[in-house]
Amino acid sequence: MAKKSKELEQFCSFCGRERNQVFLLVQGEDHSICNDCAEKAFEIVQEELHNHKSKKPGKKFKLGNTVTPVKIKEYLDQYVVGQDDAKKILSIAVYNHYKRLGQNINDDIEIEKSNVLFIGPTGTGKTLMAKSMAKFLQVPFAIVDATSFTEAGYVGEDVEGMLSRLLQSCNYDVEAAETGIIYIDEIDKIARKSDNPSITRDVSGEGVQQAMLKMLEGADVNVPPAGGRKHPEQSFIKVNTRDILFICGGAFDGLEKIISRRMNTNIIGYSQNTLLDSIKENPLSYVTHQDLKRFGIIPELLGRLPVLAYLTELDKQAFADILTKPRNALLKQFTKLLAMDGVELSFTKDAIEELADAAMKSQLGARGLRSICEAVLRDLMYSSGSSESKKQKIDGDYVKKQLINYKISNAG
Ligand code: ADP
Repeated sequence: MAKKSKELEQFCSFCGRERNQVFLLVQGEDHSICNDCAEKAFEIVQEELHNHKSKKPGKKFKLGNTVTPVKIKEYLDQYVVGQDDAKKILSIAVYNHYKRLGQNINDDIEIEKSNVLFIGPTGTGKTLMAKSMAKFLQVPFAIVDATSFTEAGYVGEDVEGMLSRLLQSCNYDVEAAETGIIYIDEIDKIARKSDNPSITRDVSGEGVQQAMLKMLEGADVNVPPAGGRKHPEQSFIKVNTRDILFICGGAFDGLEKIISRRMNTNIIGYSQNTLLDSIKENPLSYVTHQDLKRFGIIPELLGRLPVLAYLTELDKQAFADILTKPRNALLKQFTKLLAMDGVELSFTKDAIEELADAAMKSQLGARGLRSICEAVLRDLMYSSGSSESKKQKIDGDYVKKQLINYKISNAG
């Protein structure tokens, strides 16, 4: 026995190579292993551990005990200006969604998913709201564009691609991805083109809506890891979408008319002037699934987006608040940037009003604010490193002058 051990000291029990053929030979009681075999064994163990972790059931994301819809909204308030109704609706939907995750599978009453549909003009905070929510919950989050998808088999990306984006965002942690949030932007752009089934297939409109159904409801989906096309040799990752929260958003241009028409016919015979005024002022607040069906979203998809939230056009005050109030408000960001060069930047009230005015006129929603600020502060940022004066106060006249200088259209 002692002799046998002595022999084993001389070669690797796994690959059989001798001591002088390897860099290192680690000895155990009865066996030895060389450095190469040890490395391979380590890789195998890592892989198996990873697989085991991703298959482990039940360790799902849980809402903290102290989280309530009120708390969620308070968090959103720090980042999103206005849009109170939408923030409330989203807070409730998210709260219920993650409460549902804790439900016993054998429960008789199965709580259904509360995927959300945001309706509102561009640049009003739809994406920001979804993004802030994911940040609050610390769950994986992906933003995808509905227009980049086509029905399977056609040129374009298959809808499964949105899951690979989610997987990428969490380093392929399948378990985490399965309780994540996907924001599908431009959902209105995949509306059915017309009420009549067309002769040519609507592969990027209704076809995509059809393809999304199963995923939104909850299904095991085979996801190509790199998000690309499906090659036969590519291995798939199985993702269950049952607990993924889908938030869809779109501007739905023309929807107001559909709503107003329906509302006007419904209230004929009543002299409800106040109601009429309110409809005129904010038709989107009266939106129903019926209106969206008329717009071209198929009823099956609408059934899987039970929660509707509308966002309103931002007014001048909202733009001013967006510039100054959120935790990472734009003007705070520029002030910080210039402070790095030792420049103390400040804005007068009328400077902020001028900036807000320019954003209103740009009709890009709050999205226009950044380029407006960039233009107004361009000269200052250019010279900030070499500037003598360490205090810069931006007033209304300076903003006006810069907007004209840099030909920001509609300014002045
Ligand atoms: P969309 O409604 O088109 O999805 P986004 O959420 O992408 O618009 O907003 C575009 C930009 O405007 C983002 O930089 C965002 O920070 C800002 N923004 C839009 N709406 C708001 C809002 N209500 N509060 C704070 N920032 C906003």
